[in-house]
Amino acid sequence: MRSVSIFGATGSIGQNTIDLIARDPEAYDVVALTGARNIKQLAHDARRLKADIAVTAHEELLPDLRAALDGSGVEAAAGAKALDEAAGRPADWVMSAIVGAAGLAPGLRALEQGATLALANKESLVCAGALMLKMAQANKARLLPVDSEHSAVFQALTGEDIASVERIIITASGGAFRDWPIEKLASATLAEASSHPNWDMGQRITIDSASMFNKAMELIETKEFFGVESSSIEALVHPESLIHAMVGFRDGALMAHVGPHDMRHAIGFALHWPMRKELPVERLDLAAIGQLTFRAPCEQRWPALRLAREVMETGGMAGAIFNASKEIALDGFIDGRLRFTEMAGIVEDVLTKLTGESDHINATMTLDNVAQIDHLARIEAQASINKRAG
Ligand code: NAD
Ligand code: MG
Repeated sequence: MRSVSIFGATGSIGQNTIDLIARDPEAYDVVALTGARNIKQLAHDARRLKADIAVTAHEELLPDLRAALDGSGVEAAAGAKALDEAAGRPADWVMSAIVGAAGLAPGLRALEQGATLALANKESLVCAGALMLKMAQANKARLLPVDSEHSAVFQALTGEDIASVERIIITASGGAFRDWPIEKLASATLAEASSHPNWDMGQRITIDSASMFNKAMELIETKEFFGVESSSIEALVHPESLIHAMVGFRDGALMAHVGPHDMRHAIGFALHWPMRKELPVERLDLAAIGQLTFRAPCEQRWPALRLAREVMETGGMAGAIFNASKEIALDGFIDGRLRFTEMAGIVEDVLTKLTGESDHINATMTLDNVAQIDHLARIEAQASINKRAG
């Protein structure tokens, strides 16, 4: 039996993870499940998986969680300290699926106790990649990628020497506006940006997909995870989204990973690694699909890609600045204070200002310093939005 914990159990990745674990309850001993406001779901899953503890991030929801778990034998806890305590409980395998920078601290705690950490939370690597890798190494813990592109790269690298890699190509669907005339983007509405041509995801990641901020994050994530030069990492628009990534080797070979649109593939790969086990995902019928198409990404349409390149080249705390200012710019678009095309300008303003101040960019990467720069970048982004609003 393997002991497992799931951080962000009530979200889209968390629920897909639970779907896989619940199919084979004899194989897993569930330690901790964590969530935020969806107490009903958290309690339901903690009961059926017989978790040791369920934790909500919100202290005021503790009475609700206690009531929902009454008589189940599952411990209820709430708040940041409880989350940290639960993350420190020994588990063989931990899913990191909290959204945003809030996923960083629990992920580090799990690495500290030597767990294998399946990492869906891309913000951890973007904000503090060096810190995550250092923590893993110091505690003989293992990090496995769950973002589909990075899982694909990881799979294509099996048995290969990283020194023979010439390039890594991650694909992008292109999002809601891939076929729009560029001049029209400034008038894109929230509803238009929130509908994805290929799949159904949360609103924030769908908008990040239309702006390619999601892909920009993933370029940075690739550099941090695989430790390759930024000049060898590319994004490629692939509207069918069936090839998730390709690795190019120095002999000219390209290894592509082809798979259905189903996060249970990447989650299941990380769950069973280093073995492969049967997964309940669609088997692709390539003859029926007929063709796969590709286009070069246009940096005029998607300036986030250019900004990601700057972040990769700057290094240090630039990723944390990028992530935080992007979060605030996205809030600004959702609240109607920014146009779709203004988000990148806000992020660029903040990057220019804060990466120009060398004490920020060269600060030692600790959890506290990352939190501090995250906070500062949010304030700067807010100021930049206010300035634009006049
Ligand atoms: P989601 O919004 O569906 O779920 C987020 C989870 O985090 C929920 O359980 C929520 O309760 C919890 N949470 C939210 N705020 C929190 C806080 N402040 N403190 C503690 N817990 C909090 O998100 P998701 O789509 O499952 O994505 C999770 C992560 O995985 C993100 O980093 C995302 O970028 C990444 N990811 C998602 C997908 C996908 O297909 N959904 C694919 C690749 C990567
Ligand atoms: Mg992805």
